Amino acid sequence: MFGVFGINNDSVNLAVNLLILFLVVIWLSLIYWTFADARRRIADGMLVACATAASLFPFVGTIVYMIVRPPEYLDDVRERELEMQAAEARLHDMDHQLCPHCDYPVQRDFVRCPSCLRRLKDPCVTCAKPLDPAWPICPYCETEVPGSAEQQQPPRRRGRRSRRDEYSELGETAAFDIGSEP
Ligand SMILES: [Zn+2]
Ligand SMILES: [Zn+2]
Repeated sequence: MFGVFGINNDSVNLAVNLLILFLVVIWLSLIYWTFADARRRIADGMLVACATAASLFPFVGTIVYMIVRPPEYLDDVRERELEMQAAEARLHDMDHQLCPHCDYPVQRDFVRCPSCLRRLKDPCVTCAKPLDPAWPICPYCETEVPGSAEQQQPPRRRGRRSRRDEYSELGETAAFDIGSEP
């Protein structure tokens, strides 16, 4: 069979046969690998068939396929698109929130809920920008929000008692110091 190559020795013949078998196995597995890889990277079934057909040319077909194949897996492309969609949705959500009274979607700068008509924010007296009730000043024009001082009083009262005690203690020590100085 291998007389063409000038090989007559049986053991050399066997080695060449094994080598050819080995190459055929690699060739078949490369065809399968090309098919599997193309399926993960190419959405078009026709192009997958073309890539597999190209890999039928021993070794060269697979090498050419590896040069021209799409750089990304379809799964990665899909994942990236989903991530971008999620990021866009997050950006969109930053402008939207729910009305605390009726859960109607309202925008951040809404002063009144369009569904239940309840007041969500107070407009600044100077620049008319919508202000969060928790803000003591307008962050746009630095105007102090009237009424915010009254809202802050209850937490202060608790501190006042202890402060009064501190003051009285300070007064006693001060009186003591003055008395002892001369
Ligand atoms: Zn509402
Ligand atoms: Zn303002």
